[in-house]
Amino acid sequence: MIDLPEKFIKRMQERLGKDYPAFLASYREDPAKGLRINTLKLSKEEFFAIAPAEFKLQGPVTGDGVYTEGEKLGADPYHFAGLYYLQEPSAMKVGDLTLACRKERVLDLCAAPGGKTTLIAQQMGGKGILIANEIDYKRAKILSENVERMGIRNCAVLSASPETVAEKFPAYFDLVLVDAPCSGEGMFKKEENAIPEWSEENVAMCAARQRMILDRAAETVCAGGNLVYSTCTFSEEEDEGQVEAFLARHPDFTLKRQQKLYPHTFRGEGHFMALLERASDPLSYSRLKQFPVRRDREAERAFEAFCRDVFGKVPVGAVHTLADGRMYLVPADMPDLTGVSLVRLGVGLGEWDGKLFKPAHALAMAFGQEAKKKISLSREEAKGYLRGETFEWDTENGWVVVCVGKFPLGFGKAVGGTVKNHYPKALRLRS
Ligand code: SAM
Repeated sequence: MIDLPEKFIKRMQERLGKDYPAFLASYREDPAKGLRINTLKLSKEEFFAIAPAEFKLQGPVTGDGVYTEGEKLGADPYHFAGLYYLQEPSAMKVGDLTLACRKERVLDLCAAPGGKTTLIAQQMGGKGILIANEIDYKRAKILSENVERMGIRNCAVLSASPETVAEKFPAYFDLVLVDAPCSGEGMFKKEENAIPEWSEENVAMCAARQRMILDRAAETVCAGGNLVYSTCTFSEEEDEGQVEAFLARHPDFTLKRQQKLYPHTFRGEGHFMALLERASDPLSYSRLKQFPVRRDREAERAFEAFCRDVFGKVPVGAVHTLADGRMYLVPADMPDLTGVSLVRLGVGLGEWDGKLFKPAHALAMAFGQEAKKKISLSREEAKGYLRGETFEWDTENGWVVVCVGKFPLGFGKAVGGTVKNHYPKALRLRS
């Protein structure tokens, strides 16, 4: 049984009263685990048909999520192919609040490692603009890798403070998510450090930080737009009290829905979530300059030739080519992002050095599923590819999308029956 902080116990007893024993008993159970099927890549039915028995899939959570008792699912080739995202089940419930919101311009302000960004991206189905921001640059890189793995095409990843984001995008988004840094009372079972780091002072510090983040987030919500606030903690100051104080400071917002999940009321580690709406009818957007796409016809021609050869068609959209030859497919209607630290822009396409086009890993993950030149490996064979091994395959010379089944893992380059491995070194399977 977990050794809970004494003051936390006292607060929870006061808060839950007769329900406290049931709450306490939940700490005797193993943490609930979930995975969310990536419907950008396959249907739920398709996933259930191919998921091996060791995934130990249980019943549904909500939306595209299911409970699982499988082990090491982060090291499975299907995970590398972005067929699912491992997500704590109660965190998935935030998707119930965002589902009905308008999502043409979405901001996830505290986004790493990307559980909710990738969930919302699925709900957006590739349409609209998704800005995923994470203040911590290292965490923003992990977020960016998850966006790439899941094959998301309409997202830019930023690493900026809430102040910078608010200044850059005043009244711009019709949905803003603040999944705030919190005292993590719902993480006591999952994260070793959550218990020693807990104190009443830390709860107060988190509440003050959330207040600041929420005020900045509010500035970015357009008239008639929504703000979703969530935490994985139970303290009043960070949850219901935070929302109440926000509403008092921002009379132009109203509370539409609020939900608190405890581990004894929902099979998960616990979450708090609130859906707020900014007044105004009709819904009006602020205007921002469009992303200034820099074109390089020669680079684009090389990219198009590559796509026709490997994919059989060319992805539609504006191709932005930097002076150093790196190329990106910019999502339609992307605003100008000058002045903010940009970690990912749409889909990285590759590099053009004036002679050769070298494809980016992101290109395989976002568009490879429809490729003409593919190699289909078994799950076992795929592990070798993910470790960086070259392999023999009877295929014509040139670039090829390497897949597990029909799902892309990355690129390879065939020469005389040997496929050279182009899986990024930093992402390789290490076991
Ligand atoms: N939404 C994420 C997900 O679903 O995977 C989890 C977000 S986590 C609860 C909160 C994030 O807020 C952390 O990544 C943390 O680095 C970031 N953060 C910490 N301090 C912050 C601040 N002052 N302003 C904005 N974000 C902050």
